[in-house]
Amino acid sequence: MICINKKSDCCGCGACVQKCPKNCISMKKDVEGFLYPEVDKEACVECGLCEKVCPVIHKEKMEKTSPKAYAAYAKDTGMREESSSGGLFTLLAEQTLQKGGMVFGAAFDGNWQVKHTGVSDTEELALLRGSKYVQSDTKNTFAEAKQALQQGREVLFSGTGCQIEGLQRYLGKKYENLITIDILCHGVPSPDVWEKYLRFQEKNFGSEAEYVTFRSKRQGWRDFSMEIRFKNGALYSETLAKDLYMQLFLKNICLRPSCYDCRFKSLNRTSDLTIGDFWGVENVAPAIDDDRGTSLVLVHSQKGMDMMQALQKAVAFQEVDAEAALPPSAESRHSVALHRNRERFFRDLHHKEIDKLGGLLKDPLKTRVKRKIKNFIKK
Ligand SMILES: Cc1cc2nc3c(=O)[nH]c(=O)nc-3n(C[C@H](O)[C@H](O)[C@H](O)COP(=O)(O)OP(=O)(O)OC[C@H]3O[C@@H](n4cnc5c(N)ncnc54)[C@H](O)[C@@H]3O)c2cc1C
Ligand code: SF4
Ligand code: SF4
Ligand code: SF4
Repeated sequence: MICINKKSDCCGCGACVQKCPKNCISMKKDVEGFLYPEVDKEACVECGLCEKVCPVIHKEKMEKTSPKAYAAYAKDTGMREESSSGGLFTLLAEQTLQKGGMVFGAAFDGNWQVKHTGVSDTEELALLRGSKYVQSDTKNTFAEAKQALQQGREVLFSGTGCQIEGLQRYLGKKYENLITIDILCHGVPSPDVWEKYLRFQEKNFGSEAEYVTFRSKRQGWRDFSMEIRFKNGALYSETLAKDLYMQLFLKNICLRPSCYDCRFKSLNRTSDLTIGDFWGVENVAPAIDDDRGTSLVLVHSQKGMDMMQALQKAVAFQEVDAEAALPPSAESRHSVALHRNRERFFRDLHHKEIDKLGGLLKDPLKTRVKRKIKNFIKK
């Protein structure tokens, strides 16, 4: 049976929970706010299925081939504006919905927490659009996807690399009618940190949130903003460099332990397609860059290629070299470094206001002094 000895050995994909034939595993929140499986040992029949489907215990060995890579964005400017990068996810998902299929991805629930959800029509697709920088709970979606696949419907399942490998191991066989899309992934922050941040903003603005986006392009795609609209009409909008939550995320102080030892970030993936922000597009494919959002698309299978080819009229695109587009130094290709104050941050999280924790992100005094001297000499 599944037993988590080291937190970094569980990415929280939920495959074991959904597979257990005795329903004797449940996801429980730890003190940092991340979900981990917990087994009811009395009910367990030691069938071993939970271990068999775990994508961390049984990491797929990938062949080293270079996938085809594209810089692309949707020509529909409205759709692109609402998407984090170039809007490729929506265009790909629409293909599945047009065939009567189902699309799975991450959506906010009524309490602004992030859960995986399945949708069947284009209006509902808006729920999945846009990056939510919080770990998404897959809940029962692997089982729901399997049911739709067995009914012969096309299924497009999107998520982080670890969630996609969890789904594939859960399914245990290849389905012709399944398309998988993983995102380039920096890491996932704790749902408790997100909740604390949002409640702090609601208290500050004296009203509940009615709309949230982590990726407003009001100031451009590169300099994107966290934007929260409140029920009393107030608006919070701050760029990634100034917003506290985005800094906690990007400086790696609140990520899941498995994200500091990620086994899913290679250039080669088990998915059909990988999508991400094409940071550095101005150097590799400047014709596909206008600072309104460009996606990087990696194609890993013939199914993925067929879907990209079907989009030729709807996107502006250019083929690029995968290694140049996503060099080994990119944060979505290697595990990020643990922040030196991570432990202290989580120790303080539940008894201090979140704005009091921003100071933990500062570099040590020695580094700051060195930087000042360097800048002074330069001048
Ligand atoms: C936690 C996280 C970290 C990321 N890190 C990087 C990075 O380091 N480098 C990079 O280039 N790109 C990263 N991305 C991907 C990027 O932000 C865009 O999601 C991606 O480029 C797709 O953009 P789009 O315009 O095609 O579609 P959009 O409509 O913007 O994206 C929607 C897609 O993102 C998925 N999604 C949204 N939130 C989550 C979530 N919490 N968990 C799982 N799936 C989610 C949806 O299911 C859907 O498939 C990250 C995304 C997330 C959610
Ligand atoms: S060994 Fe089988 S019964 Fe026991 S927890 Fe794992 S899947 Fe469930
Ligand atoms: S299957 Fe997923 S949730 Fe279960 S132990 Fe493995 S990584 Fe964790
Ligand atoms: S960094 Fe790796 S382990 Fe963390 S969510 Fe992304 S794919 Fe999963």
